[in-house]
Amino acid sequence: MASKRSYFFPEASDNEWNDFRWQLKNRVATFSSLSKLLRLSDEELAAFGAEEAATRFSVTPYYLSLMDPDDPDDPVRKQCVPTSGEFEDGRHSPDPLKEKVTMPVPGVVHRYPDRALFLTTNICPVYCRHCMRRREWAKDETPRTPSQLSAMVEYVKRTPAIKEVMISGGDPLSLPLELLDHLLKELRAVPHLEIIRLASRYPVVLPQRITAEVAETLKRYFPVWFVTHFNHPNEITEESAGACRRLLDAGIPVLNQAVLLRGVNDEPKVIEELMRGLLKIGVKPYYLFQCDPVRGVSHFRTSVFKGIEIMEHLRGRVSGLAQPTFALDTEGGGKIPLLPNYVTSYTENSLIVRNYEGKTFEYENPRPASGKDEEAPLLPFESAAK
Ligand SMILES: *Cc1c(COP(=O)(O)O)cnc(C)c1O
Ligand code: SF4
Repeated sequence: MASKRSYFFPEASDNEWNDFRWQLKNRVATFSSLSKLLRLSDEELAAFGAEEAATRFSVTPYYLSLMDPDDPDDPVRKQCVPTSGEFEDGRHSPDPLKEKVTMPVPGVVHRYPDRALFLTTNICPVYCRHCMRRREWAKDETPRTPSQLSAMVEYVKRTPAIKEVMISGGDPLSLPLELLDHLLKELRAVPHLEIIRLASRYPVVLPQRITAEVAETLKRYFPVWFVTHFNHPNEITEESAGACRRLLDAGIPVLNQAVLLRGVNDEPKVIEELMRGLLKIGVKPYYLFQCDPVRGVSHFRTSVFKGIEIMEHLRGRVSGLAQPTFALDTEGGGKIPLLPNYVTSYTENSLIVRNYEGKTFEYENPRPASGKDEEAPLLPFESAAK
């Protein structure tokens, strides 16, 4: 899809367009400005008319320009323009993963022993309609204060089991760069902290923000792992590729977490194209997530088996480098990886396995050398239940 920049924003100069401040200042965030740019469908109009439509909405000119204005089912449009589907289902919780319950101090989610998640701000340049943390930004834009951030770092300091901090949000690159720099510096000074991970969608929705200065800042705190969120091949553009390239050139590995979304990317061919496209711009597919049962997001959810079908399609046909882990998230229990079933039966002596084409093979299971009293976990598929 060619950019529709000149259709939507004919007046923007190159200097303005490439300046992230201009992009932020010109975010489309009201019904009246959006309806001047797009002919809204009944479902979209109903979202703005709905009683609860006080929910936040925002899209950058850059991200908007990736849409085909004549296609109400455009995959970029579906990710950023509210529809009445958001108000249909009150059955699900706003926080099904119980993140709030696992917060030892405000802003820190500590679920796995060795990793802590930092919610640093609730501001994003684009509010994704499928966001699993909608509850954080639904009402207002309030970044955490420097003293709140310091309290979060203090928690890491007094918890030696934490080896990795994931800086998330909202979007942590919405913090002023000096504040993010300060946070990184404080974290790097914690002796037991090994890995810093940054989770940000800026490369996809506002790639102009990934300036040389941002890359230089992150570079100082090596190793910093950068996880971004591409969902559709149309999001892979010269600009988003350039943003990833600036990070990669600074020694920052870039990985991708996609979410499986009904009507956006729930086709094996689309995910295949996305994964191939990511590898071409140097980004490693990391996770493909089942869409969580979050209130306001249900209309995006597919069957879990759709994800398994997609994984089945990718295996063998697409480079091993392009294979994400398909996973669902549980109510406070963490992520569970899901695979097509490649082991059709097994005994202690052998496994019957099948390959991507459905051909089956018997694979002999090596036994401990005789005489040795070795306790091998012989039946792994049952041992997990112990
Ligand atoms: C996803 C998540 C993590 C990170 O999990 P990885 O498998 O290491 O990517 C850590 N903490 C919380 C609360 C999470 O939701
Ligand atoms: S960028 Fe991330 S946190 Fe922000 S709205 Fe999108 S999915 Fe949610």
